[in-house]
Amino acid sequence: MIKIILHKGKESSLGRLHPWVFSGAIARIEGNVEEGDIVRVFSHRGEELGLGHYANGSIAVRILSFVIGEQINEDFWLERLASALRLRMSCKLLRDKDENANNIYRLVHGEGDQLPGLIIDVYGRTAVMQAHSMGMHFQREIIAKSLMHVYKELCGNGVLEAVYYKSEGTLPTKEQRELCSDSFLIGQTEQEVVYENGVKFLPDWLRGQKTGFFVDQRDNRSLVEHYARNRKVLNAFCYTGGFSLYALRGGAERVDSLDSSAKAMYLTEEHVRLNFGEHCARHRSITQDAFNFLDTMPENEYDLIILDPPAFAKHRKVLRNALIGYRKINTQAFEKIASGGILFTFSCSQAVSKEDFRLAVFSAAAASGRHVRILHQLTQPADHPVSIYHPEGEYLKGLVLQVD
Ligand code: SAH
Repeated sequence: MIKIILHKGKESSLGRLHPWVFSGAIARIEGNVEEGDIVRVFSHRGEELGLGHYANGSIAVRILSFVIGEQINEDFWLERLASALRLRMSCKLLRDKDENANNIYRLVHGEGDQLPGLIIDVYGRTAVMQAHSMGMHFQREIIAKSLMHVYKELCGNGVLEAVYYKSEGTLPTKEQRELCSDSFLIGQTEQEVVYENGVKFLPDWLRGQKTGFFVDQRDNRSLVEHYARNRKVLNAFCYTGGFSLYALRGGAERVDSLDSSAKAMYLTEEHVRLNFGEHCARHRSITQDAFNFLDTMPENEYDLIILDPPAFAKHRKVLRNALIGYRKINTQAFEKIASGGILFTFSCSQAVSKEDFRLAVFSAAAASGRHVRILHQLTQPADHPVSIYHPEGEYLKGLVLQVD
């Protein structure tokens, strides 16, 4: 077993159960370590602190367990995955077996499920697994096998039928990504209709962004439905149209969905058809850059606006530009939304803190000079849990604002 020995004083964050060891904290490594290896971490005094996956980046070890002497074997994966599944069952995200369990939910959310580097989203009978570290990549077969086993034990036969592995876009380096090819590890399923709060979707894990769908906005989409009655809605950065469908179901007078990607707009239209039939006169698709659209749209056109842009900052170095981006789109929304309008505004950048985001939205509101009140402060749903020891896991931030 490879040993990682930390500098004096660098054991304290692990002592507080934070699951990352930064490369600068390492005094020496005993053994020939390679990316993805399982390593044990020790303080400078030789006390064992935990074990995890080694990586060559600035986060050198992602801790899998703080239990001294733990082994990473089949029992470990079965226990972790069963615990993740039980949590989603207690959140009522899995339907009854008789109803096919065709729901959408996140089963594993990295550090929030004590499985750093691993994401698993479930679309009905299909689990889509994504590795963000070579450690998880090397373990993909045993994880997939354990996953099938755990579902069978806790939910019965047929609830989960296939595991699709999709890490071509998420492994840490270009060479690693090139060596990886997305494919089914177990079984094979076709795209099928799945449900989120009863709304129908057709996630496309083969060609879609991320695992095929943005699973993290479920609760916030419900809130849009709640406010949508008789409103004129703009859903900017709509991707597959999640917010639009809820707004339509909530009785919006009309809904404009906007995305710069033609493929996203195609998927949005497919979802509108699936839920509201061939010709939904209340819905319009706009394929355009959102910055341009917001810049040139007339005032008072909309009284409910949703801004859910992609992560403008993937790391702290580009934080300033990201904040300028958030400020820009929010300023346009504040200036143009009709009186009594409601703005749903989000940031999914992990590098942007809640305070940073609030400040960007605050300065946008101030620039418009309008009276703005916070109605709700939003975050990610319960199937994206945040370890209390790893606040970085809370990445989705949203504000619902009333603009007079
Ligand atoms: N709101 C969506 C998720 C948004 S993901 C949901 O609920 O599912 C971000 C989306 O922004 C992507 O679909 C991407 O194509 C789109 N996008 C990125 N840059 C854009 C731009 N400048 N203008 C319009 N859309 C953009």
